[in-house]
Order: sequence, then C-alpha cells, then structure tokens
Amino acid sequence: MAKVLIIGAGGVGQVVAHKCAQLPDVFTDITLASRTKSKCDAIAAQIKETQGREIKTAQVDADNVPELVALLNELKPFMVINVALPYQDLTIMDACLEAGVHYLDTANYEPLDTAKFEYSWQWAYQDKFKQAGLMALLGSGFDPGATNVFTAYIAKHYFDEIHTLDIIDVNGGNHGYPFATNFNPEINIREVTAECRHWENGEFVTTPAMSLHQSFTCPDEVGTYNIYRMYHEELESLVKHFPTLKKAQFWMSFGESYLKHLEVLGNVGMTGIEPVNFNGTEIVPIQFLKFLLPDPSTLGPRTVGKTCIGCVVTGIKDGKPKTVYVYQVKDHQDCYKEVQSQAISYTTGVPAMIGAKMMIEGKWMQDGVWNMEQLDPDAFMADLNSHGLPWQVIEEPGYELV
Ligand code: NDP
Repeated sequence: MAKVLIIGAGGVGQVVAHKCAQLPDVFTDITLASRTKSKCDAIAAQIKETQGREIKTAQVDADNVPELVALLNELKPFMVINVALPYQDLTIMDACLEAGVHYLDTANYEPLDTAKFEYSWQWAYQDKFKQAGLMALLGSGFDPGATNVFTAYIAKHYFDEIHTLDIIDVNGGNHGYPFATNFNPEINIREVTAECRHWENGEFVTTPAMSLHQSFTCPDEVGTYNIYRMYHEELESLVKHFPTLKKAQFWMSFGESYLKHLEVLGNVGMTGIEPVNFNGTEIVPIQFLKFLLPDPSTLGPRTVGKTCIGCVVTGIKDGKPKTVYVYQVKDHQDCYKEVQSQAISYTTGVPAMIGAKMMIEGKWMQDGVWNMEQLDPDAFMADLNSHGLPWQVIEEPGYELV
C-alpha cells in the first residue's frame, strides 16, 4: 500500500524496520536512512537473513533540510517515520512540508543546547501541516504513544469523566552492566536529571528531580519495584486533551545501582550539556559519557526480565467512583528472539509501526499535527494485540498510589 522512509538506525530504528518488513502488504517499499549508513546496511542484512525481504538503505544528515528534501524528492515516500533523535524533529518536519510527505515521530522536539522538552515547537506547525494537506503524528512510541492511547481507550470505554492518571513505567530487566541506559544515553540522562513536573489542580507543579518515590507491585509476577516520579512529555498533551484531569503523574522504576552511578556522574559534572575545553578540544561531558557507555542497541542478547508499562486511571462512571489499570508486559528475551533487540526498543518501535499503519490505512489520516490521544483508540489497541504488545485491563486493581 505505501512506501515509507524510516530515519534513524539505532535501537528503535532496528525494531521499526523489522516490524514494517513483517507487513509487506502495508509497507510495500521500505528505505532505512541514517547518519551512519553502515548501521542501516547491517539492519537490512538482518532483515534479509531472518525474513528474506529486501529493504533499501541511504545516508542522510537529518539536521540538514536541503539534504533531507533531496532524499524525499528522490524516494517520494508516503511518509517519514522519524526515529532519529528529538533534536531532528523540526528539520524533518520542515523537509516533509517542503516535499509533501506525511510525518510521524516518537519523541517531542528538544533543543540541543537546552535540556527542555515541550510540544510548543511542534504544535506551532499545526497550520502549516493543515494548509499543506499533510498529517504529523507526534509521540507514537510506548510512552509517549501507547500510554496516550491507553488513556484515551480507558476514558472512552470505562468512564464518564476521568480525574487522575498515573503512568507507571517499570523495567524489570537486567542487562548485567553496573550502569547502562536502555535507550539513547544522552536523551535518557537529560530526561531523568530534569526537574520533576506533575499536574495538580489546573497547573504543573515543579519538584526536585527524583524527590518522590513509592513501591509498586506489577501484575503477572513481574515483581515489586521502586518507582520515581518524574516529568514526561505526554503529561503536557494529556492534560490538555483531557481537561477533567485533576492530577496526572508519571513514574519510572530505577535500580539502586543506576541511581548511585547517576548521582556520582552528576556530582563530578559528567552529565553536563555545556561544552568544556579539554586540552584545547571542546567536549560536551554528556556526549563523552555516551561514547563511553554501552550502546543500547547491543543490550539485547544480555537483557533478561520483563517490562510492565501501564496507566492507572480514576474517575466517575454512572455517578460512582472507580479505578482502572491498563498495562502491557513484555519479555526482553522474547523481543530479542523476534527482532534482535531488547524490550525498550521493541515497545517503542512497535507503536511507531502501528501509528504509521493507522495513517497508511486511512484510519487515522487527517491533516494537521496530532497527539495520539486525539484519535480513536480502538483500531490501534487491536493492532497492539496483533503485533507483539498484548495488553490487559484490571478494574479495581487495589493500588493506593501517592
Ligand atoms: P539511538 O541513539 O540508538 O539511535 C538514534 C539514531 O538516529 C542513530 O542511528 C543515529 O545515527 C541517528 N541520528 C542521530 N542524529 C542524526 C542525524 N543528524 N541525521 C541522521 N541520523 C541521525 O536512539 P534510540 O533508537 O534509542 O531512540 C530513537 C528515538 O526514539 C529517540 O528520539 C528517543 O527519544 C525515542 N524513544 C522514544 C520512546 C518512547 O517510548 N516514546 C522510548 C525510547 C526512545 P548514528 O548511528 O550516526 O549516531
């Protein structure tokens, strides 16, 4: 049905390429492009070996709009699936507008020199995409992504009005390293060290990073973990699109070793984003740290355990208060067997493929810039079940969250 260009050949790009290749009737022609073409070629070779399918590869610097436009004009894809870094969102959106191509990403724009992410920059493209007759789908990963769709689905089918939302992201996996990040280390550390913001009574309340945590027991014997409150980008769009929410929070699990290393690295300045002059060479500490840390795309073979990501929603149905938990559990080694990646990349890459599928099949296609929760959740939820991310709902789960 459609030709797609995937940009970014990291952990997530690898999963998106595998999952799109599994659906030849939908993704009839696939090109994988990135800054380092050899990474695209290695993924293409894996897909050829495991699925017998050919995908094309290309080199592109996604910071460079004319270079992107030239590639888009040459390939003429239906859409771009952007799984490069958040720094490239706006240049890729500009190129899509110029070349008349639809757009999808998994993380909102973040300027390289400010550790700050918000939707304002991308929401500002609303009129341009509408006028061009193009669609941009924002945040089609797991969180953001599936968590937004979970919220929309629960609000639609279980409540008359939703009042609180707790998004809980547990990674019960172990890769055996004292310190490594499960996705791009620079993006991960910028996110985790940022001040916390949560929504309460009509405004965002700011608290120090990692200053509140509680214990959470996952269903399906995934285990009990300490979860820490932090800011995550989907809170911004969800409180806008569900104005009845009185409180919305995001929680993520971290192990003792991860937190201790992060504290020490922060204390000695290794997580800084300002350039420093070292022996006559400018280096950005966090970029140097990324260079030293294990590449997340190499964690697949050694990561065991499960992820459990979901939303606890409270509200009113037929005048009575109620609580519903929707969640998805994924085993790291199952992901590795299927697409040679760990579950963090898998749980991001599958919703990116499904978001693209929704657009290609016309189920979600509409002009303008959209967040996931603004679109009807049902077909997306059904596709999660069919494409490797089955989910469950528990009514009255009995959680007492802070
Ligand atoms: P990686 O660092 O593993 O991969 C990023 C890829 O983008 C690399 O192939 C890199 O190329 C490429 N890239 C970087 N800069 C450019 C550029 N200027 N031009 C072309 N290609 C470029 O990251 P991940 O795969 O872990 O993450 C990908 C995206 O997914 C990120 O935006 C991340 O925030 C998002 N994400 C979203 C999640 C969600 O649930 N919503 C969860 C996890 C991640 P090179 O190899 O040359 O460096």
